[in-house]
Amino acid sequence: MYAMTPRCHLPPPCRAASTTPATSTALSTPPPSRAGPDELRSTWAHRAWTLAGSAAVLSSLSTSATLAAADADANGAAAAFAAPLAAALAAYSLADLATGVYHWLVDNYGDADTPVLGPQIAAFQGHHRHPSTITRREPCNNLHALARAVALALPPSGAALAAAGAPASAHAFAAVFAACVVLSQQFHAWAHGNPRRLPPGVGAMQRAGVLVSRAQHGAHHRAPYDNNYCIVSGMWNATLDRHRVFEAMEMVVFLRTGVRPRSWDEPDAAWTEDYDDTAAVAGGDTSLDTQ
Ligand SMILES: [Zn+2]
Ligand SMILES: [Zn+2]
Repeated sequence: MYAMTPRCHLPPPCRAASTTPATSTALSTPPPSRAGPDELRSTWAHRAWTLAGSAAVLSSLSTSATLAAADADANGAAAAFAAPLAAALAAYSLADLATGVYHWLVDNYGDADTPVLGPQIAAFQGHHRHPSTITRREPCNNLHALARAVALALPPSGAALAAAGAPASAHAFAAVFAACVVLSQQFHAWAHGNPRRLPPGVGAMQRAGVLVSRAQHGAHHRAPYDNNYCIVSGMWNATLDRHRVFEAMEMVVFLRTGVRPRSWDEPDAAWTEDYDDTAAVAGGDTSLDTQ
């Protein structure tokens, strides 16, 4: 199956020989411009959505703790809290996988005009052109889009879990998964940040693999631009890339729809890093350090 993959790293005649009508937005997308100072600041709407998402997460955690405490009275604290803790760890792991799938999707398909996901697609694809911009965004500016999704989705999910009589571990899973998805954008920003300017402990967590590392995410920003999509801890990247999972998914999409992912084609100016822009960033934060 993989031998038939019409990826961009195959010789040009392979691509020319394809007879399937192919669609790619890579060659028609103009390079996104560098964000101005006003685009990097948090607005009151950004803060409100981030607050709402945080409140939703805290509410789910509170529900989980309340249920676990009630269970502790009957079964002991160790037994009552073991399952929610295990669920939280599972959520932390699966959130990394989920961010990888989502990042792969918005990096490779659609454009700014795509319904619903258009702004996220433009943001992720623009990030490849101006990767250091994320380090200069104010926190709520960076987090608000995913926080809004959590603010809208988590409360009804929690209500459904409560109505079904779900245990503490289910609420813990939902809360930690949502929190990790929102914070993935902060972890992503730290992966681009100057190590000397990161908050205390962040560098150590990156080196330990608790948070996605600069080296691992730096590889995502280098050719062939088709790997290391996960941005929570990065724990799934090696497995997904070794087994060429995204390449297989791209083949399924291509064979069913004729749509080529961006990563198959030679990146154009809308996809590759604007090195002049990076050099112009005050303070010298870079995206491609491998330390
Ligand atoms: Zn990307
Ligand atoms: Zn990045």
